[in-house]
Amino acid sequence: MLLFAGLECTSEEVMSRTFHIAIDGPVAAGKGTVSRLVADRLGFLYVDTGAMYRVAALLGIKAGVDLQDESTLVKLVGDANIEMRNPTSQEKDGRLTTVLVDDEDVSWEIRTEKVGQGASIVAAHPKIRQVLVKKQQQIAANQNVIMEGRDITHKVLPQAQLKIYLTGGETIRAKRRHLQLLTKGQDVSFEEVFTQLLERDQRDMNRKTDPLKIIPEDWVIDSSDFLIEQVVELIVGKARVMMGD
Ligand code: C5P
Repeated sequence: MLLFAGLECTSEEVMSRTFHIAIDGPVAAGKGTVSRLVADRLGFLYVDTGAMYRVAALLGIKAGVDLQDESTLVKLVGDANIEMRNPTSQEKDGRLTTVLVDDEDVSWEIRTEKVGQGASIVAAHPKIRQVLVKKQQQIAANQNVIMEGRDITHKVLPQAQLKIYLTGGETIRAKRRHLQLLTKGQDVSFEEVFTQLLERDQRDMNRKTDPLKIIPEDWVIDSSDFLIEQVVELIVGKARVMMGD
């Protein structure tokens, strides 16, 4: 039995009092931007799970650890104090989430291509996934969340009321990511971004533990057919109907 709002109830009952939106999808499908806007509209917490795998990679890179060395990485992640929260008014510099590691703001440091590639290597380790999935489930336990990543619909929040697979054409996604990196002053070519995007998607779809996949309950949305605002409108509308608003 668990206590929820002072009442004793089963874990199924606790779940039924919260509303969870789970979004999975490949690189640069717009998951982060869409989730942040939906969260703001619905008053939900936005959880960027990719940021957690990026932190794991950053910790490994900074410590000079081989990213294949699972047990050392698990220790680094376990020893670090990782905090994720909505950006404060002073932090509104385009970031979607503020990420602190041992009180140091790494919100932008984790957004490089190098750390993104590292994250997808680190994310293939079952023990790293175990630790991070548990943290993600704890965050969602008693509150309304919109959580995005690669395994949210089928592993982290399999009971989520609304499950979405947000995708988009490879070229459109690569153009979007390239523009994001250029805007942040990172000097990369389109070809480089395109190749790395395909590489990362392949790694995420083909790993043994909880690979990125579409499941039958998913509402598949192709973001190349819509403006971001339209995708947000679709999701907010559906969630409101499901919540009986
Ligand atoms: O979403 P983002 O690009 O920030 O994710 C970085 C990497 O973290 C992904 O390429 C993927 O390998 C990993 N990831 C994951 N499971 C999640 C979220 C991200 O494996 N739920």
